[in-house]
Amino acid sequence: MKQIAIDGPAGAGKSTIAKILAERLDYMYVDTGAMYRTIGLACLNAGIDLEDEEAVGKVCEEANIFIRYENGVQIMYLDGEDVSKEIRTEEVSKAASDTSKFPKVRERLVQMQRDLAEEYNVIMDGRDIGTCVLPNATLKIYLTASVEVRAQRRFKEYTEKGIECTLEEIRKDIEQRDYNDMHREISPLCKAEDAIEVDTSDLNIEEVVAAVIALWK
Ligand code: C5P
Repeated sequence: MKQIAIDGPAGAGKSTIAKILAERLDYMYVDTGAMYRTIGLACLNAGIDLEDEEAVGKVCEEANIFIRYENGVQIMYLDGEDVSKEIRTEEVSKAASDTSKFPKVRERLVQMQRDLAEEYNVIMDGRDIGTCVLPNATLKIYLTASVEVRAQRRFKEYTEKGIECTLEEIRKDIEQRDYNDMHREISPLCKAEDAIEVDTSDLNIEEVVAAVIALWK
C-alpha cells in the first residue's frame, strides 16, 4: 500500500490539501485530528478533569469510536452518534490537544491509523504521521505557515460556517495548541528527518497541491 503523510501545526492547510490530493490520486483521506477530537469530546461529555490521566485513559478505553467513509468523506461516530460536526468547536479542539498527550489515547488511535494504512492507499494528516504512525511512508510532507496566516484562515473558515469567534481568540488557541503539540513528551509535533517542508504562507491552495503532486511524482 502507498502512504502520503502530511504533518504540521494547526491551520497550515493539511486537511484542505489532503482532501484534494486524495480525490485526485484516488486515495483514502484519513484525518487523524478528528480521531483525537472525538476522544476529546468523549472526555468533555464524561465531565472528567482533562488533566486526570487515569480518567482520560478510562474514557478512551471505553469510548465506542467508529469511523466510516462516505464518498471519500470521513465520518466519526461516538457511541453510535455521528459527531463529525460537533468535534469542530474550539472547546473540542482544546480538549483534543489536552488529552492527546496521554499514552493510552495515542496507543489506541495510532493502532487504528496503522490498521487503515495497511488496508488502503492513504493520505493521512496529523502531527506524528511521518515520525511515528507511518515511519516508512512513501512521501512525507511537513506543511507550515506563519501563525498570522494560520489564524486568518481558521477565522475565515469558522465565520463562513457560522461559528462565532474573534481573530484574537483563534490566534491564542493556535499558539497554545502549537505549544502543547510541540512540547508534549510523546510524539511531539516535529518535522521528520526525511519530510519535505512546504511553507504555505504565500501559496494558494492550487499551488500547494501542485507542489505536493510534483513531489509525489
Ligand atoms: O488536526 P486537528 O486540529 O484536528 O487536531 C486536533 C488536536 O489533536 C491537535 O491539536 C493535537 O493535539 C491532536 N493530534 C495529535 N496527533 C495527530 C493529530 C492530532 O496529537 N496525529
